[in-house]
Amino acid sequence: MKYIVVTGGVVSGLGKGVTISSMGRLLQACGLRVTAIKIDPYLNVDAGTMSPFEHGEVFVLDDGGETDLDLGNYERFLNIHLSQDHNITTGKIYRHVILKERRGDYLGKTVQVVPHITNEIQDWIERVAKIPTSEDGKEADVCLVEVGGTVGDIESSVFLEALRQFQFRVGTENFLLSFVSLVPVISEEQKTKPTQHGVKDLRSLGLSPSIIFCRSTEELSEPTKQKISDFCHVPANNVLSVHDVKNIYQVPLLLETQNLHQLLQAQLKFDLKSPDLGNW
Ligand code: ADP
Repeated sequence: MKYIVVTGGVVSGLGKGVTISSMGRLLQACGLRVTAIKIDPYLNVDAGTMSPFEHGEVFVLDDGGETDLDLGNYERFLNIHLSQDHNITTGKIYRHVILKERRGDYLGKTVQVVPHITNEIQDWIERVAKIPTSEDGKEADVCLVEVGGTVGDIESSVFLEALRQFQFRVGTENFLLSFVSLVPVISEEQKTKPTQHGVKDLRSLGLSPSIIFCRSTEELSEPTKQKISDFCHVPANNVLSVHDVKNIYQVPLLLETQNLHQLLQAQLKFDLKSPDLGNW
């Protein structure tokens, strides 16, 4: 199993869900089976009790799980069927650990965020990634993991620490970290500083992204990509432009033209056929 993790910085609502779903669609077009997990770092056990005015539309899964709309994006883009366990929240993890503590499962140990919460997160991801979600009922080759919120939030730090450890649990050849950032355009100039700071925050947590997706109102110029490459420790080819498009279903094609599948193949070493997004 290969894991592709997507984190985001600068602002929320950047388009992480659309970007990760599009990456998954592209991998499917290359012949892989893809599944997805969404991490929401809030204390609500699920989105069912949250106001749609504050949180946006709730997406209801086949098993009745009430989740973030991103799971709807994954199901629609990838034609998969997810369960409520595919949505991890801080509330679910803590509830699980506290129930285990009450049962005495920790045999008298002091139960702590590290290692008990971080281990629970890693166990949960590994367990759920193996649940077949595609029509043919087979296990996926790749599991996409989206971390909600923005890097630097107190709420998401425990998940980022768990993922930092997770890359060694599954092996660095099976783990790829990406970062979705914002490149604002001010006075016709594409600004890279928010991306530089976002990546700096991520690196201070021991995580180094291999691919940076830049959301912008316009296509990223080559000098902008080069600048992000220079400051963020990634090759310029690994800086991808995910500029505004009229229809979000164009995003997989946008990523294909920038050879995302080849970048993923180079790092994760899987066999890919050339992408066929034919009727997409
Ligand atoms: P996040 O997961 O970061 O909260 P979403 O994936 O839910 O963000 O996207 C937020 C909004 O931005 C959605 O309305 C989505 O349709 C829109 N969006 C995302 N990517 C693009 C894009 N490349 N072009 C235009 N709109 C986009």
